[in-house]
Amino acid sequence: MPLKKGVECVGGIKPPITIDDKEKVVILSNGEKYKYDLLVVTPPARLPKPFEGTPLVAETPTGKWTAINVYTGRSLKYDDVYLPGEHSMPYAGLPAAGVPVHFTALASAAAITGELLGQPVDPAQINAMTCALDYGDVGMMFNCDIKLDLSGNKAAWVGNCYSILTSPLGKLIKDLFYKTWLATTM
Ligand SMILES: Cc1cc2nc3c(=O)[nH]c(=O)nc-3n(C[C@H](O)[C@H](O)[C@H](O)COP(=O)(O)OP(=O)(O)OC[C@H]3O[C@@H](n4cnc5c(N)ncnc54)[C@H](O)[C@@H]3O)c2cc1C
Repeated sequence: MPLKKGVECVGGIKPPITIDDKEKVVILSNGEKYKYDLLVVTPPARLPKPFEGTPLVAETPTGKWTAINVYTGRSLKYDDVYLPGEHSMPYAGLPAAGVPVHFTALASAAAITGELLGQPVDPAQINAMTCALDYGDVGMMFNCDIKLDLSGNKAAWVGNCYSILTSPLGKLIKDLFYKTWLATTM
């Protein structure tokens, strides 16, 4: 779909890359060159500086992230610390995105409430992750089903994603997504 708009998507690129802003060309590490008119560079998600060097952090295959219990967002190190945030998602096997952060924050709040009340609670941690995209002419939605592996402390979703909708209606859903769900539940 982006191709119809004259946008070419190039994925799976590993650093280092070089940007020649005089020639307006991006040079990949394998020597491939891509000319650009407008270049928008998004830095990857990373551990926020205040966490660096603290005992809240653990090494993972994808780098250093805060270490949590996948079900509640509770710190693995300190019982009275909860870490629902982009910085803990990769540790739990979730993507660094707002939707899983949102559900983990709700799970943390429920776990704290349960402790205050002295009652067991269902933290209602994430079991599905829906994404809405606006492509200009149409909107798209896809969903990923999520299975929590509590003994392995991981959320599994890769390979469980599927498209729900490609339609102009999807643009409206994206709009509603921001104006209602995000605005009223956060
Ligand atoms: C343009 C854009 C679109 C996005 N769209 C989506 C989407 O459609 N779906 C989705 O799931 N995700 C989306 N995301 C990602 C999502 O917004 C983030 O994953 C999510 O907001 C992360 O939440 P967080 O609470 O971890 O961090 P943040 O929301 O970044 O909150 C961190 C807060 O900490 C504050 N802070 C930083 N340093 C300090 C400090 N030293 N002391 C005190 N406070 C500090 C910051 O000011 C900030 O308020 C999008 C992100 C962007 C940028």
